Amino acid sequence: MNISEESLQALRDLLCGDVRRNIVVLSHINPDGDAIGSSLALREVLVSCGHNVTCVVPNKYPYFLDWISGLENITIFKNEHDRVVEAVAGADVIVCADMNMLSRLEELSDIIAANTHAVRVLVDHHLTPEGGFDIVFSHPDSSSTSFLVYTIVERLFGTDIISRQMAEQLYVGMMTDTGNFAFSFLTPELFRAVAVLAGKGIDIPQIYNNVYNSFTEGRARLFGYTINRKMKTLMKGTVAYMSLTEAEMRRFWFQQGDSEGFVNYPLTIKKMKMSAIFIEQHDFVRASFRSRGSVDVDVFARRYFNGGGHKNAAGGKSFLPIDETIQAYIDAVHEFAAEGGLS
Ligand code: 5GP
Ligand code: MN
Repeated sequence: MNISEESLQALRDLLCGDVRRNIVVLSHINPDGDAIGSSLALREVLVSCGHNVTCVVPNKYPYFLDWISGLENITIFKNEHDRVVEAVAGADVIVCADMNMLSRLEELSDIIAANTHAVRVLVDHHLTPEGGFDIVFSHPDSSSTSFLVYTIVERLFGTDIISRQMAEQLYVGMMTDTGNFAFSFLTPELFRAVAVLAGKGIDIPQIYNNVYNSFTEGRARLFGYTINRKMKTLMKGTVAYMSLTEAEMRRFWFQQGDSEGFVNYPLTIKKMKMSAIFIEQHDFVRASFRSRGSVDVDVFARRYFNGGGHKNAAGGKSFLPIDETIQAYIDAVHEFAAEGGLS
């Protein structure tokens, strides 16, 4: 990963002088381990530089992250609307972490747009970032935003500034976005960073257990049901899709985060190239896509589902009823395949 010295210098000028800044660190709707980990680590380092920092996410993080230390410093827009409006209005720096476009903040994006004076900083690893940022760290070749934050911190301050708590936050982001170090962009630099974090005394098996072995019984049963009853295949078993209605989720006492990771499972089948899950929400259907190798679900999600993300992991939305959404997906897969998108 090649971080520009010019962007680092701009950040140094902004943050390392004598001026105490009011900073808002934002991350995306349905925040995941990387969103929370990178935001909290940024907060910790900015606070240690003497700044006043508010971390904001649009809605709550899933329950399997609720053990992370420092989590009390995350403000949830949905629960504390007025506090967020005040912090954003008073911000002279706005940092967007782990998101490539303001629309990933949903309703919160209007409040951000209303602050026209703050310096805007992007720290992200998604493809096709939108414009409008003054200082840009956009690195789709970074396996997580947390690894990008680690690299920026190392370059600006060295690794002594990294506390055990911050190491834990960064590790959660690196671990979750790489599927416990199994996906793409697993560079020697990433493992050097992990070695530094391990040296801070974090408990790696404990972190793994806290995230991946802390689900409810309902979630385990919902997973079995989804794979057994709801997984369908197309294109001679090389494309899979699953769906969950609100009624099905209620049957299994669904909590936010319970369907996390389901979409990956069809890719444990050797010949599978692409997988999707459609989850019915109150007023739309949330879509998640995963793929292997050259199959580009960022392109697929952008083209057919008003979304995006990474080449092998992306998401999007549909405003059609769930049955029509699934039919639209089947049609899209055929079109995508006919154009060579699945080869
Ligand atoms: P997930 O399927 O786990 O929700 O998301 C996979 C990846 O796609 C994540 O990096 C996430 O940030 C991104 N993503 C998910 N939904 C959307 C969306 O609606 N729009 C965009 N641009 N990216 C999304
Ligand atoms: Mn991420």
